[in-house]
Amino acid sequence: MNSRIPEIVEELQSFDFYPFRRRWGSGFRPHFSFKYRSVVWHVDSSRGTAGEVNLITHAHTDHYGQRNAKNPFALASEETATILEVCCGGFSGRIFRVGETVRIRKNETKVKVKTYPTHHMHGSAAFMLGDVLITGDVKDYRDLPKCRVLVTEATYGSPEFVFEDEIDKLLSVDRAALGAYPIGKSQKVAQILIDAGKNVSVEGKAEAICRRLGIDVCDSGEVVITSPRELKNKAGRKYVLTAQKFYSFPRIVVSDHVDYRGILEMVEHCDPEYVLFYHGRASEMLVQEVKEMGCEVLTLEDLNFLSC
Ligand SMILES: [Zn+2]
Ligand SMILES: [Zn+2]
Repeated sequence: MNSRIPEIVEELQSFDFYPFRRRWGSGFRPHFSFKYRSVVWHVDSSRGTAGEVNLITHAHTDHYGQRNAKNPFALASEETATILEVCCGGFSGRIFRVGETVRIRKNETKVKVKTYPTHHMHGSAAFMLGDVLITGDVKDYRDLPKCRVLVTEATYGSPEFVFEDEIDKLLSVDRAALGAYPIGKSQKVAQILIDAGKNVSVEGKAEAICRRLGIDVCDSGEVVITSPRELKNKAGRKYVLTAQKFYSFPRIVVSDHVDYRGILEMVEHCDPEYVLFYHGRASEMLVQEVKEMGCEVLTLEDLNFLSC
């Protein structure tokens, strides 16, 4: 554990930012919560109890929680809300367009929340409150602003995760079944292939999401996108679309995340003084490299001893 944590957390309060985790049974609620200008916010965590805001960065199941969709004080982008409607039967919170500034009013406090695209999946958004930027998952950091406190992900937070997307290989595929995660990856890939002039059909829940997002899928395409689990039931050529290496099918690397180098480049781009990795696993190497860039670094585990 970083022995400077109490000091760092004290320094963070000069940005009106106090991160903490809520206890739950013998563990913690997912991800983290924070106080900003005396208002309590929960990031990709479970629902607050007393009109607290849930900031939902995107519609991957590990980032929203079924019950948050029913929180009138949850905040999600239009496309995230649309996907939550398909997956959770509705979204009761406040909806914004990515890029918009949302004004939140709690008692006497007014807070401006700026939003930015992260290109992780349809509707994924970063939130900026004062000097603090909370990114959620990121594929392309170039639309993110500079900040003084960067709260971000480290899904590929180990140096062995260095890869390039194989979009050319993806576009050269003809008459094949592609295995892709149904929420996010399937829509992104369908859009890429349709933009390149291909007929694409998508199976299962992913199809309903495509249609709701206005992605022009057809009923029997030359390329079929299905879940990786269903690939074994398909005839002909099949590929799984991922940067992960544990599948038995031939793979085409298409990732929704920055790789290890991308995380470092994002830190350089946003130029923060403090970095909190709140999702994924930041390796010791990553923490060390980011410190060498002149940042104080915290991981989610470092927050475990703090309370609200
Ligand atoms: Zn995600
Ligand atoms: Zn994630």
